[in-house]
Amino acid sequence: MDFNYRLQPYFLKFKTPFAIAHGTRDGTDIVLLHLTCENITAIGEASLPPYLAENKESVNEFIYSFFKDFKFTNDLNTCLEYLHQHKSGNYAAKACIDIALHNWFAAYRQIPVWELLGLKNNPLPPCTFTIGMGAPDVIREKVKEAHGFNMIKVKLGGEHDKQIIETILDCTDTKLCVDVNQGWKDPDFALDMIHWLAERNIVFVEQPLPKSDKQGQQWLFQKSPLPIIADEAVQTIEDIDAVKDFYHGINVKLMKCGGISPGLAMVREAKSLQKLVLVGSMSETSCGIMAAAQLSSLANWVDLDGPLLASNNPFENVNYKNGILQI
Ligand code: MG
Repeated sequence: MDFNYRLQPYFLKFKTPFAIAHGTRDGTDIVLLHLTCENITAIGEASLPPYLAENKESVNEFIYSFFKDFKFTNDLNTCLEYLHQHKSGNYAAKACIDIALHNWFAAYRQIPVWELLGLKNNPLPPCTFTIGMGAPDVIREKVKEAHGFNMIKVKLGGEHDKQIIETILDCTDTKLCVDVNQGWKDPDFALDMIHWLAERNIVFVEQPLPKSDKQGQQWLFQKSPLPIIADEAVQTIEDIDAVKDFYHGINVKLMKCGGISPGLAMVREAKSLQKLVLVGSMSETSCGIMAAAQLSSLANWVDLDGPLLASNNPFENVNYKNGILQI
């Protein structure tokens, strides 16, 4: 089938500068792919936070080289197989094409992507609302914005972790989970913090220790009173086996693993090992967020609030009804 495509660089701005344990920034480089065939245009997205290896140039280069010899057949699996075998790495670039292909085939068949995947749109888990690190008055304002959500994800790993949690608990009854982004360096300190958080009914702790600290992660897993979720420690399905004895669950992100089809395989692998599943995202437009959301019915929670944190989402905003992202 004849097709054409266009790449659109984009800078997705945060409403307010966003602070996590890695540092503070005001937006994220994005590459959008517009893929047209049979008069249907589908969009894909690569999100490129600065701590990942890929950038706009590497994504453009990968996409040009992929489409050079690509044959657009009317079989999605053939297209996906060709994509995921094309060069190693380049996961955000692959996710961009993988998302566009899923969106194209779903539009062609006039069904939602979750149906194309053989999944359901019900029941769906709660979506978290993310609060970055900040001073108490900023945190209190952020908590107001979380109105309607049933779970808040708090970024920790800085100097004032207990103060941040106490400030939030002072102004809301909403359940909290925390994401440390590898910010606690000492396993004993991490365990003390997790006990303190458990006394305050926190739901889970994401990536408390650096992924390089194998011994610390395993020790903490055995002692922790709360479920510990791997994010930075797990990128692709190949990583799950190595961390299955260190974590109670994993955070699956399309940009880390290469898109919807590898993401679905990761979710299924994690569930077969009785692990908890969080479907998360980088800072993404509605395009990337809605792609990840198609896997929601298999997740325990989703962390897909990106469009709410952005000031220039180029697409229609997504719909969070009663704290659940609608698909
Ligand atoms: Mg995380």
